[in-house]
Amino acid sequence: METVKKLSVVIPVYNEEENVPLLYKELKEVLEELPYDYEIIFVNDGSRDRTGEVLEEIAKKDRKVKVIEFARNYGQTSAMMAGMDIASGDVIITMDGDLQNDPKDIPRLLEKIKEGYDVVSGWRKNRKDAAISRKLPSKIANWLIGKITGVRIHDYGCTLKAYRSDVIKRVRLYGELHRFIPALASTVTCVDKIIEIPVNHRPRRFGKSKYGISRTFKVLSDLFFIWFLKKFMQKPIHFFGILGLILFTVGFIPFIYLIGLKLTGHSIGGRPLLTISVLFILSGLQMFTTGIISEILMRIYYESQDKTPYVIRRVINVED
Ligand code: UDP
Ligand code: MG
Repeated sequence: METVKKLSVVIPVYNEEENVPLLYKELKEVLEELPYDYEIIFVNDGSRDRTGEVLEEIAKKDRKVKVIEFARNYGQTSAMMAGMDIASGDVIITMDGDLQNDPKDIPRLLEKIKEGYDVVSGWRKNRKDAAISRKLPSKIANWLIGKITGVRIHDYGCTLKAYRSDVIKRVRLYGELHRFIPALASTVTCVDKIIEIPVNHRPRRFGKSKYGISRTFKVLSDLFFIWFLKKFMQKPIHFFGILGLILFTVGFIPFIYLIGLKLTGHSIGGRPLLTISVLFILSGLQMFTTGIISEILMRIYYESQDKTPYVIRRVINVED
């Protein structure tokens, strides 16, 4: 049995003016019933509606509500990271600010933490989102992520999760990485400490979803890098070496062939097609590998220097 003293609930919000007061009320009811101290951290991710004012009003009356306000919209992952960074609870709970997650599931997540799990992930068995544009791509993504990372979870995308704070604070998030937290967590804890439990999911009543199909691309590129980092981070030379070898072979075979033609007295002609295709293959692969290197650099930049990819405009009820 693990002890829990304080909970930190982290909620990224972007244009959720109607949802915030309702969520606050629902959440408060649940948290007051629990025998723990708590804080609710709202991260206002550059909202352009009245979300900022609404949060300010709530935080004025309730010191347990902390607000981080970003200078502009940086995305849900950055917002989550910022909230986790100031969280002082020994358990961190993340959820959406649009009432799609049900605060009443929180006690059940906590039960699992107390049983000794480090990551408890919600599974929206009855997900209330569009089937073709949302649920299907998620199904494929979940399968792929499980396959690649070896952490098989049905619903990576569910934001309602609970974490042991000392574990999750070792994971850095950027890009769209909040969708991969259980997989990332598996680098700092063992897979048996990660569990999934079914949670309620409700349709969005107010406001719009901030995401469309375009997110799929970002998620896929992050997925690629997780695979890449896992496999080659400690030996990138293997990856580039193999690519280089393949390239060399591809270039060398026609080269030998052309020399053969020349030696046997044949004309090798102008062969513009060959030139063009070689140029294309080479420059394409060059750019591809340069892309990978810059991607790695970007990640090292944020991770090694504790730089944050966001700017905070102001905070409410947050000490230092
Ligand atoms: N969100 C955010 N920044 C963004 C996009 C979304 O903080 O750039 C918040 C949003 O306000 C909500 C949560 O992230 O609290 C989930 O977003 P949404 O409901 O749009 O996603 P969906 O449920 O459709 O996957
Ligand atoms: Mg939603």
